[in-house]
Amino acid sequence: MSRSSGALPGRLPGASHLECTATGESFESERLAGLSPAGKPFFARYDLDALRGHFTPGVLAGRSPTLWRYAEVLPVREPACRVSLGEGFTPLLDSPRMARSLDVGRLWIKDEGQNPTGSFKDRGLCMAVSRALELGATALAIPSAGNAAGATAAYGAAAGLPVHVVVPTDTPAPILAEIRALGADLRLLDGLISDCGKVVRQGCDEHGWWDLSTLKEPYRIEGKKTMGYELFEQLAGRLPDAIVYPTGGGTGLVGMWKAFDEMEQLGWIGTERPKMFTVQAAGCAPIVRAWEEGREDAGTWENAATYASGLRVPGAVGDFLVLRALRESGGGAVAVQDAEMAEWVAAMGTATGVFAAPEGGATAAAVPKLRAMGLIEAEDEVVLFNTGSGLKYVGMEPLAASATRPSR
Ligand SMILES: *Cc1c(COP(=O)(O)O)cnc(C)c1O
Repeated sequence: MSRSSGALPGRLPGASHLECTATGESFESERLAGLSPAGKPFFARYDLDALRGHFTPGVLAGRSPTLWRYAEVLPVREPACRVSLGEGFTPLLDSPRMARSLDVGRLWIKDEGQNPTGSFKDRGLCMAVSRALELGATALAIPSAGNAAGATAAYGAAAGLPVHVVVPTDTPAPILAEIRALGADLRLLDGLISDCGKVVRQGCDEHGWWDLSTLKEPYRIEGKKTMGYELFEQLAGRLPDAIVYPTGGGTGLVGMWKAFDEMEQLGWIGTERPKMFTVQAAGCAPIVRAWEEGREDAGTWENAATYASGLRVPGAVGDFLVLRALRESGGGAVAVQDAEMAEWVAAMGTATGVFAAPEGGATAAAVPKLRAMGLIEAEDEVVLFNTGSGLKYVGMEPLAASATRPSR
């Protein structure tokens, strides 16, 4: 096989099947699929035994720096359906001053703010839109706290598909401007993302839109899992001791956990895993509450309120998958106040040059708490996920401290 440097493979087998994450049953992968018959998320599965020994870290070396470099473990079969705006392969920034101020052995910031629309939502929506294009969807729809709508608008435009988005009225202005400029049909709703979801479902029933809600279709998680592959590649063939991740719907955390399993089956790593930590806002912390109560699912958080719009997710269909990953990894979950996020956005900016989203600030704010709890140790190598750019939150102010503040 000879191909020029940077070239990606041609037509691929893609996924072998979809698997229900609750029952383990298998389903056909080559038509549009939402939740499983059990009402739970699907995972795309691949013939990893066939890839073992062929799809190795070595073959990645010359490939283009986007998430499509992992094409063999992605669901899209046709190269023409790989919609791309340059997403993924974001910098992993070694930050010794942050490591010192947080008292850990070594610290990197995975700067997802450098994705095309300024957040890591691009990864998931790149994959979901590409796959919807491949499987024949004619219109796309999404309820969003903001960043996912911007990403869907961008990838829908790139794919040439119409996009309908429903977002809360208090979504940051830069994101609303972005959605409008990218040509999407924008509806504002005085409510939460869960209320927006109801409007989207109605549009799907009435107009045949394809619903791209978090974990309600199988492929956003496939895009987000590439963060796990990237950590391994960017750390030259190993994984960190701890990953601190600002968790809303949980796609990224669950996606990375899935990637590590795949990497083990591919023979890239052994059974070792990083400790996975969820960070949520004190005003919307369903996963943290469930973690502290030792539950296997999280239920719904009343009166969700935080200026970190990506964390304003009161209930998540994949909650049990997040909690399972935290448990199996020996990690945990912790909540931080909006004011702490803002403080650490400034501290991170000063120490590193990265203008983080509040969600990124939240990961730094969590570390002293996790150190005090003994869950992260002084010699640990830690990766913080800055999931978005601070530029998308300009004009948003931290909310006052409270555990159950009513929404504005
Ligand atoms: C959506 C979002 C999150 C939460 O991501 P999940 O993978 O859904 O948990 C965190 N940060 C930002 C900036 C987001 O947009």
